[in-house]
Amino acid sequence: MKQAPRKEALVQTLRFYEALGFDHLPFDLPESGAGSAEDKAEALDRLRHTLGDCKRCKLSGGRTNIVFGEGNPAAEIMFIGEGPGRDEDAQGRPFVGEAGKLLTNLIKKMGFEREDVYIGNIIKCRPKNNRDPEEDEIAACMPFITGQARIIRPKAIMALGRIAAHTLLGTNTPISRLRGRFSEFQGIPVMPTFHPAYLLRNRGEKLKVWDDALQVLKRLGREPA
Ligand code: URA
Repeated sequence: MKQAPRKEALVQTLRFYEALGFDHLPFDLPESGAGSAEDKAEALDRLRHTLGDCKRCKLSGGRTNIVFGEGNPAAEIMFIGEGPGRDEDAQGRPFVGEAGKLLTNLIKKMGFEREDVYIGNIIKCRPKNNRDPEEDEIAACMPFITGQARIIRPKAIMALGRIAAHTLLGTNTPISRLRGRFSEFQGIPVMPTFHPAYLLRNRGEKLKVWDDALQVLKRLGREPA
């Protein structure tokens, strides 16, 4: 019998954690829309505590700070990037460098402040020289972004760039083909779009990201600022 998408996502999640050696979930499972902002904040704190002084992969050796993610635990929208760069590693906060400025502008143009949304990354530690994260590093970190998304359960996720989109959606389809169309992660609508760092090098693509953002706003029943 075909399982309902939410149930299927739950079964996949449980198998995933089991394969990683967890004998219990490192976070609570609030039902969609259930759980107060305080409950979600506490669940995120517990997840951060589980992450601890993480040594689950080799990136721990080169990092200055773990960049867990930040923002509103009850956010309507979550932005998920790839992983910390130099500035983020130094400050322990996501998207605070040049690409971060662009993301902050997008968030404002959409009618939010950074504090209204939640900003996270697939991996929590900076790879040396900003190389792409490797498969084992992504796998070690995956329970945490999964946990963050499940706890916050936003109305939509914007997946920023190739690594975030490929990881969340389990595909290798080029980002140029994925963007502009909703997919799903853990039952949450995901809009893949270009990474802000890519926009720094390709300013002409900004309009496409704005088009993607407008689709997200429409799904949220909101108007741009
Ligand atoms: N790029 C990312 O993907 N994430 C950050 O936090 C900063 C730059």
